[in-house]
Amino acid sequence: MKEILQDASREELDALCAEMGEKKFRADQLYRGLMQGKKISEIPGLSKEFRARLAERFEDEPVRIREVFRSSDGTEKYLFELADGNLVEGVLMSYKYGKTQCVSTQVGCRMNCAFCASGLNGLVRNLTAGEILSQILVVNARAGGGVEKRAVTNVVLMGSGEPLDNYDNTVRFLKNVTAAGGICISARNISLSTCGLVPKMYDLAEEGVPVNLTVSLHSPTDEERERIMPVAKAYKIADILKACDHYFKKTGRRYIFEYSLIAGENADAAHAERLISILKGRPCHVNLIRLNEVKEKNLRGISEKDAYRFLGLLEKGGLSATLRRQIGADIGGACGQLRAGYIEKNAEGTGETCPE
Ligand code: SAH
Repeated sequence: MKEILQDASREELDALCAEMGEKKFRADQLYRGLMQGKKISEIPGLSKEFRARLAERFEDEPVRIREVFRSSDGTEKYLFELADGNLVEGVLMSYKYGKTQCVSTQVGCRMNCAFCASGLNGLVRNLTAGEILSQILVVNARAGGGVEKRAVTNVVLMGSGEPLDNYDNTVRFLKNVTAAGGICISARNISLSTCGLVPKMYDLAEEGVPVNLTVSLHSPTDEERERIMPVAKAYKIADILKACDHYFKKTGRRYIFEYSLIAGENADAAHAERLISILKGRPCHVNLIRLNEVKEKNLRGISEKDAYRFLGLLEKGGLSATLRRQIGADIGGACGQLRAGYIEKNAEGTGETCPE
């Protein structure tokens, strides 16, 4: 694979253009075109010679939308193709206030959570910062957005992969996506979800990109958590909570716990009680999700009624909590790992596939 030009920060792009003997306004044109989600070969105004030299060194189109699955409530799910042929997924969800895009940070994942489809075949490779960013650039363009007027307003790092297991590329992406003059999505409109890689959570607090920190908890005790999340053997809940509090102190951002309700594993009244005892009084919110059943896995979800009962127990115990609806099986079912945490309405779509 060639290099990914979208990995570069604005400053690096300026330096590169200078090195290649191009004037500053060419760098402006190039940067603007990239931020508009254009292929390098389609960016207007560049000389033939400059274009040819760029084409020699950089991928023309690092992320291509290969398929779009559309749901009746406006939710779209994308299959992205990377320059080396690898595939990742993403979702765009529409709200009153804007659109939230869910992006992937790795092809596959090595965390191997018992309920998740992403880890079924292990980690294939990390995405580069520019490949993470390009998922947003191409979707923003497709949705009619530009640089000044973005169509994509919010971002969640909840697609395939563990963002903190691809730390350097993820942080570079966060710096580039929030940079002034670019697509410039504010850190407070970005949520990073982690399975709880404690040392990296401390590192993230120092990066100067105060994104919302979301932790996949899924169980209130270490023993039970280890059964569904192998990573729990390495990092204990008490240490995760300490890291979250540190993050809160550093950034002032309240943190969120994700809790996917799984029958017979983590969804009894006793689990709710235990959750209340460990989380009460903390500056946090709990997002309950009904399990999105993955056919390769042997875990089952609970009924909506039981999920509301669980939610009621948490609220009665003084926790801030919500139950999020699932992405409709019609478009989300194939994916399993893409949680519907930010979907407010159930996406009961047509499952219509539109090859691009
Ligand atoms: N690796 C990161 C982010 C990717 S997964 C993390 O672990 O947080 C995004 C969220 O979806 C996580 O909370 C994950 O546990 C959850 N998830 C994965 N598969 C799921 C499924 N089948 N049903 C419900 N939630 C699931």
